[in-house]
Amino acid sequence: AQGARAAGVKVRLLQKVSQVSPGTRPQVRLANGASLGSDLVIGADGLHSKVREALNGTTAPFFTRQVAWRATIPNLTGRGPEARVHMGPMRHVVSYPLRDSTLLNIVAVQEKAAWAAESWTQKDDPMALHAAFADFGPEVRAMLDAVQDVHLWGLFRHPVAPVWQGGNLVILGDAAHPTLPFMAQGASMALEDGWILCDELNRAPDVSEALARYQTRREARVRRVVEAANRNAWKYHLSFPPLRWAAHGALRAGGAIAPTRMMRQFDWLYGHDVTQAPA
Ligand SMILES: Cc1cc2nc3c(=O)[nH]c(=O)nc-3n(C[C@H](O)[C@H](O)[C@H](O)COP(=O)(O)OP(=O)(O)OC[C@H]3O[C@@H](n4cnc5c(N)ncnc54)[C@H](O)[C@@H]3O)c2cc1C
Repeated sequence: AQGARAAGVKVRLLQKVSQVSPGTRPQVRLANGASLGSDLVIGADGLHSKVREALNGTTAPFFTRQVAWRATIPNLTGRGPEARVHMGPMRHVVSYPLRDSTLLNIVAVQEKAAWAAESWTQKDDPMALHAAFADFGPEVRAMLDAVQDVHLWGLFRHPVAPVWQGGNLVILGDAAHPTLPFMAQGASMALEDGWILCDELNRAPDVSEALARYQTRREARVRRVVEAANRNAWKYHLSFPPLRWAAHGALRAGGAIAPTRMMRQFDWLYGHDVTQAPA
């Protein structure tokens, strides 16, 4: 990080990486045929990471039979800074304000046998979203009525990459540990990774030791978060009515009567301060 500050950082937009090769001076090949050499390549290139592929080969994820619609709408009701979860059999909707509460972000998940691509860019018809949640209450229906533009995302389970670094390549965020969205922690984990990687590069005597220490410091925590997200979906989507009433009733009562105690179970997650994590 200090080196980058001293040398200045050059940002090249719209460059598609087609291949990455490890080595004393790793190479990044671009789709336009150009090739770049560097002392260190940090792969923050998400779910379909080329750097993960160079370190681990390809692995086949499996479709969880769940799809997520994502949309933003104007926050016309003036909702404050809180997240809301609406649950129903085999479906749930999470909504929360964005951009100084001018927008609401909506993530609506449904269990579905039909396959959907794992892509940020696949669009869907807003009517399909309305139809999937037509029997939800008026608050959800009003939000979905305001959706004009919606993306559909197939939810896949990926293993945490066994190898995060080697040959002056390193991965972070979704490139290393893609997660289902049921703990809402994917972006947070990417930020935490970035902080620890920077800390290790600043303190370790050489790059390969810094990269190895980075993986050691991060791996147990991200595995715990990914596993918690894998376990969470069924709680939201209970179909058998008595079980659903009991579980959702307990959640509602816990949230109203003892919200602090209910949240304490997540202290390991939300109470974690990466800047204070032992080196
Ligand atoms: C439905 C859903 C809901 C979610 N909700 C939440 C939430 O509430 N909270 C939360 O914290 N997280 C959430 N996440 C997860 C979060 O979006 C990701 O974990 C996070 O974006 C990962 O950040 P990243 O920087 O590792 O990768 P990305 O954000 O995917 O960034 C990767 C970047 O690399 C670029 N790239 C990829 N391949 C190439 C290439 N070959 N050449 C050049 N550039 C390339 C991409 O264009 C992109 O800009 C959700 C995810 C989903 C699917």
